[in-house]
Amino acid sequence: MSTDQYTFDDPVSRYPSITPPDQEQAEPGLESQLQPVPDLGENTYRGTGRLEGRKALVTGGDSGIGAATAIAFAREGADVAISYLPSEEQDAVRIAGLIQDAGRTAITIPGDISDSAFSRQLVERAVEGLGGLDILVNNAGRQIYVENLEDLSDEQFDDTLKTNVYAMFWITKAALAHLGPGSTIINTTSVQAYNPSPILLDYATTKAAINAFTKGLAQQLAPKGIRVNAVAPGPVWTVLQVSHGQPPEKIEQFGKSTPLGRAGQPAELAPAYVFLASAESSFVSGETLQVNGGMPTP
Ligand code: NAD
Ligand code: MG
Repeated sequence: MSTDQYTFDDPVSRYPSITPPDQEQAEPGLESQLQPVPDLGENTYRGTGRLEGRKALVTGGDSGIGAATAIAFAREGADVAISYLPSEEQDAVRIAGLIQDAGRTAITIPGDISDSAFSRQLVERAVEGLGGLDILVNNAGRQIYVENLEDLSDEQFDDTLKTNVYAMFWITKAALAHLGPGSTIINTTSVQAYNPSPILLDYATTKAAINAFTKGLAQQLAPKGIRVNAVAPGPVWTVLQVSHGQPPEKIEQFGKSTPLGRAGQPAELAPAYVFLASAESSFVSGETLQVNGGMPTP
């Protein structure tokens, strides 16, 4: 029997506890240069038709959690548009290829979502390319550590809020015109929403805001038959961390303090997005699904 996401094994050792080598990239970073290579489920995710015929937009779908989600969605039968920054074209092309290998349509839309005009255009291009929209995954995000508040520039605070919060607002608002009953919106928050690191003030602030936005909007859209949920990852091995997401000296220990004793892999996040996107979660809205290796959250 081949291994897939349904294989029962010990979650402690399902993936090795990695000790990544010293490395740093300019943000947003290229996953193709990340060591060790993260598992996006390329060789393991097995679809069972749970999203047959759905049309999904996944922001930040070129790499990491968004890419694993895009691959899983495609294998579950969805056509998928991915957005990313122009410098990430190489990563995006690889993921688009995997979507196509699943026999689905892949739409690639490069651009900067911290720009409101582009955010709106992104939705229109996704809708045009897919012929509609019924799943929106707001996943793109920016995380740059700063040790002291005095050194956290107004520009950075603004950029982080724009990318992580404003873009979610702009993209969701634009998408709403196209979403019918049965559609789902899934936002990506973080364990940082509950347990903020002292060096990630701006980032943690955005993740708490994403939780509140999710829970409020879920109530607003419920009567329209549109569900809104969030996924809150813990430490997951992605290029976000080595492109100024963490101090380089902390990378070696990344994820080792979770109860499961290791960082998560993007492949372990994708099933949470699939669940929230599928009709199986029809009575779930305003929920934040924690996928964090066992760290307690409120
Ligand atoms: P990632 O770097 O692979 O993905 C983030 C993506 O965001 C990038 O690929 C990029 O395309 C996109 N992005 C960033 N700024 C953008 C901009 N201005 N315009 C357009 N796109 C932009 O890293 P990831 O870890 O997979 O991150 C995905 C999400 O998961 C983020 O929201 C992140 O905050 C969240 N998250 C990650 C972790 C973790 O440990 N990796 C933990 C909790 C939450
Ligand atoms: Mg990327």
